[in-house]
Order: sequence, then C-alpha cells, then structure tokens
Amino acid sequence: MSIAKPVHADQIHFAVDGAELLVGGLPLSRLAERVGSTPFYAYDRALLDARVASLREALPSALRLHYSVKANPMPAVVRHMTGLVDGIDVASGGELRVALDAGQAPDAISFAGPGKSEAELMQSVAAGINIHVESRREIDAVARCGDRLGVRPRVTVRINPPFELKASGMRMGGGAKPFGIDSEQVPEHLAHIAALGLDFHGFHIFSGSQSLKADAIVECQARSVELALELSQHAPSAPRLLNIGGGFGIPYFPGEARLDLAPIAEGLERLLEQVKSALPQAALAIELGRYLVGEAGIYVARVVDRKVSRGQTFLITDGGMHHHLAASGNLGQVIRKNYPLAVGNRMDAAPGAPATVTGPLCTPLDILGENVALPDAQEGDLVVVFQSGAYGLSASPTGFLGHPAPREVLV
Ligand SMILES: *Cc1c(COP(=O)(O)O)cnc(C)c1O
Repeated sequence: MSIAKPVHADQIHFAVDGAELLVGGLPLSRLAERVGSTPFYAYDRALLDARVASLREALPSALRLHYSVKANPMPAVVRHMTGLVDGIDVASGGELRVALDAGQAPDAISFAGPGKSEAELMQSVAAGINIHVESRREIDAVARCGDRLGVRPRVTVRINPPFELKASGMRMGGGAKPFGIDSEQVPEHLAHIAALGLDFHGFHIFSGSQSLKADAIVECQARSVELALELSQHAPSAPRLLNIGGGFGIPYFPGEARLDLAPIAEGLERLLEQVKSALPQAALAIELGRYLVGEAGIYVARVVDRKVSRGQTFLITDGGMHHHLAASGNLGQVIRKNYPLAVGNRMDAAPGAPATVTGPLCTPLDILGENVALPDAQEGDLVVVFQSGAYGLSASPTGFLGHPAPREVLV
C-alpha cells in the first residue's frame, strides 16, 4: 500500500503557530472550544478575500466574476462572497433565497439548472433575477409567470455546446446532455423568446468542472465566445451578458499542480477585445465555485479511539463520510485518493506510523484518509481535512446512520 505524504505543503494556505494550525487567526484547539463541538467545518474569511483578490489581480479587470453558490451555500459564506464578486449564480429555489437574504441585488443573480419547477420560476420572476432557460417548457413557464405578475422576465439562454471541457484536451462531437439547449436548436428558441416578448439578456455556456489544465480552459473559453457570437445573430436583441462558465480546478491530491492563470488571462484579454468589437454592450463573465472557496475551508474531526489492528493503526474520529462524502472518495472518484490531512494540534510533530483515519460509521466506506503519514495522534486530537471549503457538508449524506450533523463556522 502506498503511503501518502502528510500535508502537501504547496497546496495548503493556512498558517501554523507552533503546534497549532491557525484558522481565522485562532489556534485550532481554541477554535474547537469556540465552536462548542466537533466535528465542524471552518471557513477562513481572510483566505476567501485573498483568493478573490489574487484572481482579480491575475485576470483582466473588465471580466465579471460570479460565485456559484452550489460549491458552498452556507449563508454567512454567501453573504461574504456577495461583497467580493460581481454576481451570484444559483441552481435552486433554496439557493436563490440564500442569495437574496445575503443582500445580493436581484439583477446580479442568475439561476441555471435543468428542470426548474413552476414554483422556482415564479419565485425567480417575482424576484426579478436573470433566469437561464434550458428548455422550451421553461421559456413558456417563465412567460406565464411574467403575465401573471405583470412583469417582463429577464432570460439568458443556456446553450449545450457541441464540445466539453476535458482535463485531457477537448472532446468534440455534440454530447447529449440534460443541461441547456442544444446549440443547433438555439435559433428557434430565440425566435420563441422574441415572440413571447421576454427580455433577452444573453448566453450562458458551462462546459465542465475541476480542470487543472489551463490550455483546455483557454480553448474552451474561446470556443464558447465564438459560439455565442455566432448565435447572437439570431437573438431578438443584442446580448448584454456572455457567461462562459468556469471549470477552474484546485489541487486535491499529491502531484497535482496548481492551475496556471497566466495563459487564461491572456486568452480572456483577447476574448474581451473580440466581444467589445462584436457586441459592445455585452459583459463577459465567468462563474466559479470551488476555485473561490474550496481551499479556504477545512473539516475538523476529533479522534475518539486509536486502535491497532493486525499491525495497522486506525484513528477513529467523530466525523466521516456522512459529513464529507468527497474526502471519503465516494463522490465521483473512481480510485480513492487521500485529501491532504493533518493533526491540527500537532503541526510541529514528525510523522509516526502511518495511520488510517476513519469515521464512526459501521461501513468500510467511511474513510477520511488511508495510510497517512501523520504524527502519532491520540484520543482528543483534532484531525484536519484540507481543501474542504467546497462540496463538503451540502454534498454529503448527513442522514446516513443517524449521527449528529456537524457545525459550520466562518472565522
Ligand atoms: C456546478 C456549477 C458551477 C461551479 O463549478 P465549480 O467546479 O465549483 O467551479 C458553475 N456553473 C454551473 C452551471 C454549475 O452547474
């Protein structure tokens, strides 16, 4: 069995003071007392600020930056993000309520996602947000909601492009997807939007997620703009927004290199010029989730038991897959790999015997780290899972086995 490195130093942004990991400026042991119970998720405001600032610095200033609530819908996080980004993208009626409560202006909220219900569409039209329509049914339902409320709904057409964002280069060939409207059908849907008198706002293309390959992203963004410009010839009015998706990945596993923003910035500079000359009134936007919040969050679980079974050390904690499905390897991974782990109150200790970190669930799936080179941890110590600010709690089966839900804090 391979032994994972303890903490991939180049992947971690949290500072350390002696034995303690610092979260929001607080030693982890102190933060744990402040939270009141373990396990918990903690998100660091200063790291969120720093991430958005460094991204803004690297990318052209005319580019609009949206936050995808799906990555982390904690209300305090969403409220914090509204002060940092130019728009909030939601994917359900529930996320829409969080964005509105956070104080985001409705005209900077967009709602994308397949199968929006009549109630969600009514909620969106009433709120006055930008609705990304993804089918003929949605277009008709939005028009009905507008008639009933006496308002003119704003719609953006989500396009299902004939290409995908692939970590290993671009795959062409017109995939079948439940998301968006197939590009070849977009002209007829635009005519329908015009006939219904809806306020056409622009185009949205989202081609993929978690890419660490800058070249793939650059190529995908160029194709997206090209497709949007082509389809804008069929639009009832000049588009005011081109949202070309995101897909910026973060390094989770050993050996993964950080995404290189320089080529992406150059590509976007070219695309902004292209858009400016073809569609002067259109803004160019990208939407990011995990890239903005993923590295600013940790999951913390306390060691409840330390056992040695036939030579192998197990650290059994009070947290696990029911709170953090992704770190357990059960959210889309084909081969289980360890997220970066540490013992947050023994940061200055050398690694001891490799340990396997599990949760309290009676299933072999409940693993947070396999054969990890951690310091010799004892009962009461705090195991930290890094890269946990996105797709953590809200992407986990908290009801599984009936243990209590973890707390969440923004520090
Ligand atoms: C999930 C999603 C995102 C966010 O993806 P990340 O990998 O977290 O950046 C953005 N846009 C759409 C349409 C999505 O469905």
